[in-house]
Amino acid sequence: MAQEKFTFQAEVSKLLDIVAHSLYSHKEIFLRELISNASDACDRLRYEALTEPKLTAGDADFRVTITIDNKAKTLTVSDNGIGMDHDDLTGALGTIARSGTQAFVDQLDGEGDDKLAMIGQFGVGFYSTFIVAKKVEVLTRKAGGKDAWLWSSDGRGEFTIADAERDARGTDVIVHLDKKQDEFLDPARIETVVKQHSDHIGIPVVLKEKDGDRTLNTASALWTRDKKSITEDQYKEFYQHVSHSFDQPWMTLHNRVEGVLSYTNLLFVPSTPPYDLFHPDRKPQVKLYVKRVFITDDCEGLLPPYLRFMRGIVDSEDLPLNISREMFQHNPQLAKIKSGLAKRLFSELKKKAEKKPDEYAEFWGNFGAVLKEGIYEEPENRERILALARFKSTTQDGLVSLEEYVGRMKKSQDAIYYISGEDSEALLKSPHLEGFKAKNVEVLLMTDPVDDFWISAVADFDSKPFKSAARAGADLDKIKGGVKDKKKDADNKKDGEKDGAAAIEPLLAQFKVVLGAAVKDVRPSERLTESAVCLVTGEGDMDARLERILKQNRQAGAGDMTPRVLEVNPGHPLIQGLAERARTGDGQDPLIADAAFLLLDQARIVDGEVLADPQAFSRRLTAVMESGLKV
Ligand code: ADP
Ligand code: MG
Repeated sequence: MAQEKFTFQAEVSKLLDIVAHSLYSHKEIFLRELISNASDACDRLRYEALTEPKLTAGDADFRVTITIDNKAKTLTVSDNGIGMDHDDLTGALGTIARSGTQAFVDQLDGEGDDKLAMIGQFGVGFYSTFIVAKKVEVLTRKAGGKDAWLWSSDGRGEFTIADAERDARGTDVIVHLDKKQDEFLDPARIETVVKQHSDHIGIPVVLKEKDGDRTLNTASALWTRDKKSITEDQYKEFYQHVSHSFDQPWMTLHNRVEGVLSYTNLLFVPSTPPYDLFHPDRKPQVKLYVKRVFITDDCEGLLPPYLRFMRGIVDSEDLPLNISREMFQHNPQLAKIKSGLAKRLFSELKKKAEKKPDEYAEFWGNFGAVLKEGIYEEPENRERILALARFKSTTQDGLVSLEEYVGRMKKSQDAIYYISGEDSEALLKSPHLEGFKAKNVEVLLMTDPVDDFWISAVADFDSKPFKSAARAGADLDKIKGGVKDKKKDADNKKDGEKDGAAAIEPLLAQFKVVLGAAVKDVRPSERLTESAVCLVTGEGDMDARLERILKQNRQAGAGDMTPRVLEVNPGHPLIQGLAERARTGDGQDPLIADAAFLLLDQARIVDGEVLADPQAFSRRLTAVMESGLKV
């Protein structure tokens, strides 16, 4: 018998090691995984047989069979599904073809306690068998083929494939149990595990016993059953099956829609973010069935990319069974299902947000950044998503909605103010917010990169425009109230004192000359109360953070950022001192020149930018400190 030897892909060996240790306390899930693969194999054959009926001729009753051999100490899970040929075997068992595998395994190296949850999200599938096995054999024959193959491995880095015999199509996975795993030779134990983890499987899972075969599961697809008869645990098991995960569903949507278009959806929102949530292909992960026949788990037309965190199935009564991939893009029925699913989810989320704001906040923390992509990708759902959006705010604890923000707006305020940046702690200290704090004007903190995209696509909410607190023309002076106004009124009463802004005019003029093209303009600031300077985006210019993101992704031209406006605080002692020198000097003061650049760089640092010329910065700083010593 010809035998070929192969080595596992490096990631598989690593994964196997980690799996065996971290999943040991859940070792019975190997059975769930094998049954799930067997059922998938039947699903796939059923689909193939739609166009090639002879593939299932003679044996169209799909089932999974479990056989216990006490002498050989083996547990065998068999199916009459699609089977595997030589290429399928080398491709499927021994590698992990899924996207992001390398990155995922690297991540596992570092992490400690969260491994279980992480592996769960990734779905170890077939490899979980090695938790209980000292050797695994896979005897398989592809539907429509004549050759059979025996795949064999002890899970230590190598596997072999040899030609073999099998009477009919399908696969046997023969698990040679480790010494201490005798419990899986006990029919009662097997029954419990199947009932608990695999009851929802749509085909019979049969245990072979001396006195005949016994079906262990309910053997009807869970989503076809009456909602009232389904327990929360059964939903959970089904969710874990379709999502390959270990967590709980955060929300379950099980509906039967009847009418012009009939379909059933059993969809879940996970309670932890999947590891590949931000993978660039942004593929939706919901399985499409037509009249209970599995069609595909790669159906782009079923859910929009911004709902890719959803898991579960949709079973349509009306789509043609022979629907092809190309048809997914343009099928009007599918488009209707898609929009129906999105609306259903939005309305459930809305209810949850109202009734259980704390739980909703968890959801928002996990998936808000993804959902917000829909604001600019799907204008017809824009208002719905904006209503669901939550933000951190400068004046409130927790998360706030736009509706709440608008309800709190000051009478003289006509815009929704926001500030965007990488991290809310840093944003809260931003000089841009000083004037808003002083006037007690609420500002929303936008910390997801996606915020900069949708906000440039959305004009307003509830007819209130969004305005960046880091942009010129924030119109703060129009808003009444707060400490600043009172102070100003008092200031105004002292006559004989020069108006702050006018007093620094000569300084600003010198700054402009010195800084040249490095800034768009130099202006007195309305918003600063503590800091000497800050940088704001000019009217009509791109938001600084958006520009930074686009540059990182090479979507905006290389080179320097668009120059911004340097705002200068007329009330700051340093500025007042410099202004005094500017008024009395000859316009060539080197200290003012150094100060101009130092203040500009300082504003850049505060904004989280990296200085283009740190040498020049230190040279100037040294010069200024040195001149301080001379006094
Ligand atoms: P997943 O089920 O998520 O794809 P698994 O590790 O469970 O990952 O299985 C890997 C692959 O091995 C499957 O995608 C399938 O191609 C193949 N496979 C496993 N078991 C069977 C089976 N019983 N019949 C046919 N193919 C199988
Ligand atoms: Mg699997």
